[in-house]
Amino acid sequence: MTLNVYNTPLKKKKAFEPLHANKVGMYACGVTVYDMCHIGHARSLIVFDVIARFLRKKGYDLTFVRNFTDIDDKIIARANSLGTSYRDVADRYIEEYRTDMDILKVRPADIEPKATDHISHIIDMVRILEEKEYAYRADDGSVYFSVSRFRGYGKLSGRRTEEMIAGARVDIEDLKRDPLDFALWKRSKEGEPWWDSPWSKGRPGWHIECSAMSTHFLGATLDIHGGGRDLIFPHHENETAQAEAALGAEFVRYWIHNGFVTIDGEKMSKSLGNFMTIRELTKDVHPEILRLLLLSRHYRSPIDFSNEAVNSARQALVRFYEMLDRVNHSPAEDRESRLEGLVGTFSRDFDEAMCDDFNTAKAIACLHDLTTEINRALDQDPKISRKDQSALKASMGEVTDIFGVFGEEPGEFLEAMKRGSVQVTGLSEQEIQGLIEERNLARKTKDFKRADEIRDTLKAKGIQLKDSPEGTAWEKI
Ligand SMILES: [Zn+2]
Repeated sequence: MTLNVYNTPLKKKKAFEPLHANKVGMYACGVTVYDMCHIGHARSLIVFDVIARFLRKKGYDLTFVRNFTDIDDKIIARANSLGTSYRDVADRYIEEYRTDMDILKVRPADIEPKATDHISHIIDMVRILEEKEYAYRADDGSVYFSVSRFRGYGKLSGRRTEEMIAGARVDIEDLKRDPLDFALWKRSKEGEPWWDSPWSKGRPGWHIECSAMSTHFLGATLDIHGGGRDLIFPHHENETAQAEAALGAEFVRYWIHNGFVTIDGEKMSKSLGNFMTIRELTKDVHPEILRLLLLSRHYRSPIDFSNEAVNSARQALVRFYEMLDRVNHSPAEDRESRLEGLVGTFSRDFDEAMCDDFNTAKAIACLHDLTTEINRALDQDPKISRKDQSALKASMGEVTDIFGVFGEEPGEFLEAMKRGSVQVTGLSEQEIQGLIEERNLARKTKDFKRADEIRDTLKAKGIQLKDSPEGTAWEKI
């Protein structure tokens, strides 16, 4: 199956052809380490984790690089407010990031460079840009990229110059010649960290670190460069201008950008109070639920994060695990295969979905179809052949390798979900019991409307009521 990949500047899918046969170099912009990672970061990290896993599964020899921005205005501001050094802040949040990645089962990239370990490569690139007259030193010793000198500026984002000028930020203290020019090297202010350079004691601009580190590890042309779509302009546009002006080669063959995450239909922001860190979130939501939720939409589509979305991802994951548990516990016999066709069709459809621009949403739909079919077959005859059992396990093993879900023993996972389901629904056991009692009272007084309302409210939160002569019990759906 040919892998087709959507390329941001072309606005269409194209057959994936790396520059060198099956060797693939992929770079994704990493986090600026000054705070805890949030759900928006989680999406980008999981999307590129799954893309990396899938490329390897398809036999590509992948080198995946994801950086840490460990020097930046925000890091310096944080260090000042905490009365510590930028290094302490950066190191602390790199550690926190690694803990989050372990929780989310996001595999580390092959190379995870820090900007401050590559100052000499950054200076080399700025020097080349200056020699080629793409960059100029301002009076204060900062260095700027001259956007008007680079003809292709705007080709990634598709923006016109007038639009870009309208959006350009001009600081009074900026000494640039043109509003679109951007800093490659910033002279450090009093008390700020600095490195020696031919221009001034300063520090690198944000954009240049990615151009320098990505091409240092992967060569002048990257097969894939990824990040969130908010990075297209100006960050990735500027990365392209710098790398292509300095190295004279096409910078990126395939640009991959993931969509935004909204919270209950709104943009996430600290001021709105809907800022969700990965750490807080995974206290209540199992990381595999989060992975499945974030993979349940195509990576380019926006995704809304809400209680309903968490519940439906949880229900889906439980459904898949229940099927796996059922298969594990079905009496296995040496008999003829009857599920071979189903498993074969699933594997083909799953691969086809993933080859269609990493369409995880479609791949999850295939999993649902398979689950329905397996359950139907086991309803008809609960016995299973050993061959089918192992074929199915192997097929699910492939899904685990790519999606990072079903990594747990099904029986244990289902037990844990049962215990944790109260937390996941956002209702305490007491609140559930309270609602059940209110419903019983409503039924006694023949207020069936209220009784139904309560049942529906609980159902929407993933709680199913079961009435029997002994009373009303509840369970997670
Ligand atoms: Zn970057």
